[in-house]
Amino acid sequence: MNAVMLVSGRLTNFVDACYIVAGLLFILALAGLAKFESSKRGNAFGILGMIIAVIASIVWLVALPHYHPVALVLLFVPMLIGAGIGIWKATKVEMTGMPELIAQLHSFVGLAAVLIGFNAFMEDGAAASAFQRSEIWIGVFIGALTFTGSIVAWGKLSGKIASKPLAIPGRNWINLAIVVAIIGCGVWFSNVDGPIAWLPLAILTGLSLFLGFHLVAAIGGADMPVVISMLNSYSGWAAAFSGFSLHISVLTITGALVGFSGAILSFIMCRAMNRSFVSVILGGFGDAPMVAADGPQGEIHETTAADLAGQLADASSVIVAPGYGMAVAQAQYPVAELAKRLREQGVEVRFAIHPVAGRLPGHMNVLLAEAHVPYDIVMEMDEINDDFADTDIVLVIGANDTVNPAAMDPGTPISGMPVLHVWEGRQVVVFKRSMKPGYAGVENPLFFKDNTQMLFGDAKASVDAINAALPVPAAAH
Ligand code: NDP
Repeated sequence: MNAVMLVSGRLTNFVDACYIVAGLLFILALAGLAKFESSKRGNAFGILGMIIAVIASIVWLVALPHYHPVALVLLFVPMLIGAGIGIWKATKVEMTGMPELIAQLHSFVGLAAVLIGFNAFMEDGAAASAFQRSEIWIGVFIGALTFTGSIVAWGKLSGKIASKPLAIPGRNWINLAIVVAIIGCGVWFSNVDGPIAWLPLAILTGLSLFLGFHLVAAIGGADMPVVISMLNSYSGWAAAFSGFSLHISVLTITGALVGFSGAILSFIMCRAMNRSFVSVILGGFGDAPMVAADGPQGEIHETTAADLAGQLADASSVIVAPGYGMAVAQAQYPVAELAKRLREQGVEVRFAIHPVAGRLPGHMNVLLAEAHVPYDIVMEMDEINDDFADTDIVLVIGANDTVNPAAMDPGTPISGMPVLHVWEGRQVVVFKRSMKPGYAGVENPLFFKDNTQMLFGDAKASVDAINAALPVPAAAH
């Protein structure tokens, strides 16, 4: 064994060891991120794993026999530009804008997978076996699908594209025909020699781009939580196949972790929303006709912060059902203050959390934890849904779709989705700014019920006003 081989063997071992350590750190990161209390530690593990993986890759690059210093420039310049944009975006983004940012980032992963696939074929395409070519076309397929799917998801989340599902007649058959054509092109690509192989690769890329667009465009607004976790999973698989093409084990490990965790999250979200996992993957739900917000359906009753403060002081039980509006208004702090003061006065206060309230899985839990609401009074939907009937006052703070009784009837985009039964409370107060429908665009009959009162205005301003008007307990005088 000569010295060069020995060094290169040791280096390979070192780089592989680094990749294994990085992979383990990513697993610890995922485990840490599963709970709010350990999430910071999980994040730190993820950052450390990524630093180790990047350093190992640079060491490997520098040790390559045909290494040229220009390669480092080509590596560092885009990396620094990307890191700069990433830091700028991450510090600027509002919590409510996170899903849009996540969708954008997924689209980059998808695009990168497509470019890596093309590059792998350009580099050693002629010599690549049918198996290696299969890795390339599957990576390109999932990458292209993720790219356009994520762009449409970003458009729908940011309101730049209508959230209404696109319903082309026979769209399931169209999807099926496209998938069959993609597989056909993949088989052709894997078994043909010469430059002609670019033709099936180009066709399947175009078809995959269209499929990604079509699958997500066909899904209605209320089902977007599942789409985001599904695209998260796809982006993981795209990265895993890029790892195969580039022979980088850590990329394959990381991609598989993201792919599986995204798939599990999609499954959990589907169960929470009473949707079929298979039909989500096929872009096959959201086909119910969208119910237009066609104005008021009866009379509404309004209340004021002062009146409500008096009623809250007399209540013995209160449930708060928060939603996206609480996040927009950043009302979690005054809400936490209100809960604390009512509890000090002997009122039983609990929070009811719908699994898709807000715009991120766990969005409400994060906001409430940030405002130091005790965990033991924050209940999941299934734990508290039967308790509304025994509750004096239910405060619906910026929630709409997740408390909409229309979900219990057929024919709306949210039909079948379990919702919080807030209307069963003795008295319900809805905090919002107008009579506009929620994210799914479905009129909410809750607002017109006899036991519902509307408190119009920004949720933070309204809760601040209640806190100011809340009678001070006698002992505090
Ligand atoms: P919705 O998005 O249905 O409704 C939010 C309500 O908040 C609106 O009715 C709005 O009414 C009100 N609002 C907005 N800003 C304020 C403010 N400053 N002060 C007071 N009220 C305000 O909320 P939900 O949380 O009930 O439902 C979440 C929806 O988002 C579901 O359809 C879900 O499927 C979807 N979704 C969820 C994701 C997740 O992962 N959790 C991801 C993507 C989508 P007004 O404008 O009149 O004030």
